[in-house]
Amino acid sequence: MGYLGSQSRSQLKKENGHHKIVLFPFPLQGHINSMLQLASILHSQGFNICIVHTQYNSPNPRNFPHFTFNSFPDGLLETEYVSESDLLAFIARLNISCTVPFRDCLQKVLCDDSEDPVACLITDGVWYFSQVVADELKIPRIVLRSTSISSISAFSALSALSEKGCLPIKDSELDKAVPEVPPLKMKDLPVVHTKNPEDLQQILANMGRETRASSGLICNSSEELEGTKLAKARQAIPIPIFVIGPFHKYFIASSSSLLAQDMSSISWLNKQKPKSVIYVSLGSIASINAAKFLEIALGLVNSEQPFLWVVRPGSICGLHWLEHLPSSFLEMLNGRGHIVKWAPQQEVLAHQAIGGFWTHCGWNSTMESICEGVPMICMPSFGDQKVNARYVSDFWRVGLHLEDKLERGEIERTIRRLMADPAGEAIRDRAVSLKDKVDQCFKEGGSSYRSLYSLTGYLSSLSDSAFRG
Ligand code: UDP
Repeated sequence: MGYLGSQSRSQLKKENGHHKIVLFPFPLQGHINSMLQLASILHSQGFNICIVHTQYNSPNPRNFPHFTFNSFPDGLLETEYVSESDLLAFIARLNISCTVPFRDCLQKVLCDDSEDPVACLITDGVWYFSQVVADELKIPRIVLRSTSISSISAFSALSALSEKGCLPIKDSELDKAVPEVPPLKMKDLPVVHTKNPEDLQQILANMGRETRASSGLICNSSEELEGTKLAKARQAIPIPIFVIGPFHKYFIASSSSLLAQDMSSISWLNKQKPKSVIYVSLGSIASINAAKFLEIALGLVNSEQPFLWVVRPGSICGLHWLEHLPSSFLEMLNGRGHIVKWAPQQEVLAHQAIGGFWTHCGWNSTMESICEGVPMICMPSFGDQKVNARYVSDFWRVGLHLEDKLERGEIERTIRRLMADPAGEAIRDRAVSLKDKVDQCFKEGGSSYRSLYSLTGYLSSLSDSAFRG
């Protein structure tokens, strides 16, 4: 911590403490982490915090004793829980089934006389239904987007590209540049696997419309990372935009982890040489097939680089966990590799033994890696991960893109190049420079520091008008 300026919480509480803010996270790990980090940042600025959440993937209130929590029944059946195979159906389904129970729950919070009055509602941008509820209950809504600003503009470009007949992407055009959103190629467009391709356009249209109707937008990024895209977003989205990230630099996300983090990751890392370990994780949703899993395993072994590998149960299609690995695999490792089901990722990336991160390029993972100066191997799966991966490899140039070449020989060469070969030195150096650059945004006068100051002022002004009227 130490990024939050010189005023104490008690001083700030005097200014902001009668202002209660309700936050409503979308129930996926990356989204929950960003929203609860934002809640902690606002709490540190003196605001009182109430979290309204679905029963599915509910955060653990015991880890946030200073917040109040209110859950409501989301109506999800076990067969409808999230999977990579139809994320959009999950989003559309929740935006329908949550409307009534969320409104009832929010109304109860608003009517509770024993609590401070609610000044503002902050919801994930994916909860597009919530703008209508906020309007009905006469409370300002602010949107949190937990993706990069570059992804927001890439998602926005999809409908124009579709009208121009560029979608679905033709195999012959995969490597073609997309002039609307440089440096992306057609294959980097943030498309999402779905049974019904029109769902994506519909959801994006809903999100865009309801964001523009809201009272403001908070982004988990920084001007140092995405200054040019931010300037364009400010022109395109006519509401106040506050870019105050990376959030996890204020508060770590481990307390909002839905899965138990295996701390043997850290004791194993303690025994490794500085910058020697490649950390491998594909986040909380992405999945791969058994053949790819085996190529990854053999590429890791053949690279002869120590590795810490998160294999999330259920992330290999059709398999429970490690049963597809040859029985000799763990013996072959001879202590050079460690496999866990879920790791304390931020602590892992900050560990001195880590020299590289093989990632699916979820936005949280990407920023967590950038902030520790760890160079990346990018293996995006769907949606914004593809955009982030292209930025990592071609714009910030702090990583190598596997470009769908998931074959053990290519993996071995890529790991060596990133971690050890002189050919990777420039990438490793740039990763350290980018970390230093992003560090500046939290210093007094830095971009996120200033933006947080504007945000707290804005929230207080919303509160004051709410109390007056
Ligand atoms: N994470 C973790 N342990 C793991 C893997 C991931 O704590 O073993 C955390 C990671 O630090 C990040 C979040 O889970 O904050 C994943 O979010 P991201 O946006 O990177 O990807 P998603 O899971 O949404 O695809």
